[in-house]
Amino acid sequence: MNKELLRMLPKVDELLSLKKVNDLCEKESRNLVVESIRDSIDFYRKGILQGKIQKSFTDEEVLKKASEILKRKNMPHLKRVVNGAGIVIHTNLGRSLLCEDAVEGILNVAKHYNNLEYNLEKGSRGSRYSHIEELIKEITGAEGALVVNNNAAAVMLALNTLCEDKEAIVSRGQLVEIGGSFRIPEVMRFSKANLVEVGTTNRTHLYDYENNITENTGVLLKVHTSNFKIYGFTEEVPLEELVKLGSEKGIPVMEDIGSGVLVDLSKYGFPYEPTVQESIKKGVDVVTFSGDKMLGGPQAGVIAGKKEIIERMKKNQITRALRVDKFTLAALEGTLRHYRDEIDAIKKIPTLNMMLLSEEELKKRAQRLKRKLSPLKENFKFNVGEISSMVGGGSMPTAEMKSYAIKIKSDKISEKDIEEGLRAYEIPIITRVYNGEVLIDLRTIQEDDYEIILNGLKEVGDKI
Ligand SMILES: *Cc1c(COP(=O)(O)O)cnc(C)c1O
Repeated sequence: MNKELLRMLPKVDELLSLKKVNDLCEKESRNLVVESIRDSIDFYRKGILQGKIQKSFTDEEVLKKASEILKRKNMPHLKRVVNGAGIVIHTNLGRSLLCEDAVEGILNVAKHYNNLEYNLEKGSRGSRYSHIEELIKEITGAEGALVVNNNAAAVMLALNTLCEDKEAIVSRGQLVEIGGSFRIPEVMRFSKANLVEVGTTNRTHLYDYENNITENTGVLLKVHTSNFKIYGFTEEVPLEELVKLGSEKGIPVMEDIGSGVLVDLSKYGFPYEPTVQESIKKGVDVVTFSGDKMLGGPQAGVIAGKKEIIERMKKNQITRALRVDKFTLAALEGTLRHYRDEIDAIKKIPTLNMMLLSEEELKKRAQRLKRKLSPLKENFKFNVGEISSMVGGGSMPTAEMKSYAIKIKSDKISEKDIEEGLRAYEIPIITRVYNGEVLIDLRTIQEDDYEIILNGLKEVGDKI
């Protein structure tokens, strides 16, 4: 039987000589058509050999499969999804959404030539770092600033500049791992700083730093334990005490603050998080943070601090390899401008905006989505219910924000199949399955997602 089916497989050339395939080659690249046909024939061959295809098939069917493959090849692999998970800074889903000004900035420098490295006043070569340094200084109060690829790069550059072949003293309680790809001890190794661990997991005192200072100490490092909290019998050395010790001994103090919080959100009911401005005010020599976490901008690592140290970093050869492109600079500038006015920032920056949505507003939105989905009542049951959503991105791990979700279930199809179906939709819809229901958290749903959810769920229903 297998042999017979294998004999039915058309040859690529046979299909290519058909008129309609020829016509297709006019519209699409011929190479792509050939490749898709080849992939389709391969699909059938493998199916036959693995016993998955046991019935005869026509050339027409092989071509249909080829056209599906071609359509997929033509679609971008990196694409939009709907975030129904309620995690605002979802690292797997691209972290922060950009504000309008940031998006406009990107388009503008993408479509047009620009002064990336051109000094318009002098009519000569300029520096790409000049565009944004003043703005960061103004907002954070720092003497100097530099932007690199991400915070991991920022930490590496700062350590390499301050501490190459010297010792960096860090508390054992702060040797964090952020999402597997960033571990403080590993970053240190790459920056050629030698790690000196002091204190214990739960308690580190000022004398732990003091007793370990030698003539070879390059930096006192404080790392924000972004994505976890330890409770109970704990002690960390406050930044101001570390700064005092550092200045007495002539050793710079560096802080990796992680999520660059520029607005104190504790007045809106969030757990208190130290802001970048406070660290600068307390006299830290260098502070580093991410652009796309709580700051709500593009992927970037911001370094702010003492002018002399920033200048040394600019001259470090490795900076060239970590440098940001024009899109990052444009987007970061568009985002940071809003921080001149806190209220403006909260209103215009999507990450802050979503974090601060009121329960009342979220409930209203959930009810609106429920009404929108009501044409699908035959296949699905919808309920609006309270849930809790998270900030994500290793930021504020203990903050649970009360939110509202639409809860979907069906008598005809399992919650797992609904979740998979939504995820397989043309614009994938990412949901959570909990207690036998599929949840879509309204906190991270955008205005034009409602229609997509309706259409995606309709498609899932149509396949029942
Ligand atoms: C997130 C984080 C990093 C890594 O930042 P990226 O911008 O993702 O490179 C480093 N340190 C801390 C404390 C963090 O929270």
